[in-house]
Amino acid sequence: MSHPLHKIALAAILGFCTAVPIGIFATHYTAAQDNLTNSESAILQTLDGDQIYNHINTLSKTPRVAGTKQEDAAATYIKKQFESYGYKTELQSFTFTDYTKPHTVELTLNHVTKSVKPLAFEFSVNGYATGEVISAGLGTVDELQNLDVVGKIVLLKRGGISFVEKARNASSKGAVGVIIYNNDDKKIFGSLGAENKIHVPAVLLTKAEGVVLENLIINKPGTKATIKIVGAQSKSNISQNVIATKKPSSLNKTAKNDVVVISSHYDSVEGAPGANDNASGTAMTIELARVLKTIPTDTEIRFISFGAEEAGLVGSTHYVESLSKNEISRIVANFNLDMVGSKDSGELVLQTVDDKPNLVTELAQEASKKLNGQATPFTQGDSSDHVPFANAGIPAALFIHSPPEPWYHQPQDTIDKISKTKLQDVAEIVSVAVWNLVRIDSQVK
Ligand SMILES: [Zn+2]
Repeated sequence: MSHPLHKIALAAILGFCTAVPIGIFATHYTAAQDNLTNSESAILQTLDGDQIYNHINTLSKTPRVAGTKQEDAAATYIKKQFESYGYKTELQSFTFTDYTKPHTVELTLNHVTKSVKPLAFEFSVNGYATGEVISAGLGTVDELQNLDVVGKIVLLKRGGISFVEKARNASSKGAVGVIIYNNDDKKIFGSLGAENKIHVPAVLLTKAEGVVLENLIINKPGTKATIKIVGAQSKSNISQNVIATKKPSSLNKTAKNDVVVISSHYDSVEGAPGANDNASGTAMTIELARVLKTIPTDTEIRFISFGAEEAGLVGSTHYVESLSKNEISRIVANFNLDMVGSKDSGELVLQTVDDKPNLVTELAQEASKKLNGQATPFTQGDSSDHVPFANAGIPAALFIHSPPEPWYHQPQDTIDKISKTKLQDVAEIVSVAVWNLVRIDSQVK
């Protein structure tokens, strides 16, 4: 089990589920629905906000941290719901690295009485390293080439190449420890990637601390440092994606073999019951599966709830990576639902990785215009499971309320903060948008 602060800090580094606040909000919840087609009206009549709310209530009794038995129980619950509507389901399991932050991170320097407060990198190894400090610029292969760093601690500046490359370049030349300092005054967190490829202790300093250290080495050559990192843990863990598939109707005469993916993640961060993040999107995925089950469509629909999103979009990345090129080309849209029901968040926005409209945002805007009189705005966002789809070239967007609620990733993210009105609003927009893509007489493709 990871320390809660680690999970929060990790989310801060990678920014999962965070949203960019924007200023233009659509006016929602005043349905001008007489322009809906009969099919759209029928879908909306079937859609039941209470069912979404009840699934959230069940799922958010406890946190559902990736790799725990609570996450596993949530997967079983989701699978059961899908199966109760007659779907065939698949549990797709995968492994991921669960990292626990060290409890002790120290850097001591001779000639320096002022205390330095280093940060550990995510995936820092534990260790005790002591040696002369030597400066090596940005830590590129070229810069290190003619330096003798064997048994020494290498001081590097952020920039040019990644933290992991810097640390690896230094350790592979024989350095026993690595200090990297920031190149601007903003607060940062650093990661050495997902695996422990660096076998020496590495710490991160502020720009001001780094500059002091650079000057110290110039003025007092031979300055020694000691790095101590204790308590970090990396262990392999298992999570799973829950997948329900609706095959195209047999009425289909114009099969294009297309697939639409409606997705959400069901894991939460430690200590947070995750009613909004993301039992809300999970519950909505379940309800959309129920509503769309018996409706004839010409397109395959996959309802997927991903595991281990909070550990770094692990489930969705695994899913997309497991697809063949041909399967990827069949997926024409990904509607991703994450944090779609808090009373205390802002208005609905659509987020795309490239900040450009695509098939998903266009359909959602058409639907929201029909339902609410105004198109839902879109903005840039790359903090949820739509990212691996977008990176694979699939039109993808995240449905999220922005700015996020104050309870984001907190123990107070509980069922009492959920708004049935907001759930209903998002579910209506997504169901109408999806319907217009999968209906048998679809002109949209
Ligand atoms: Zn989330």
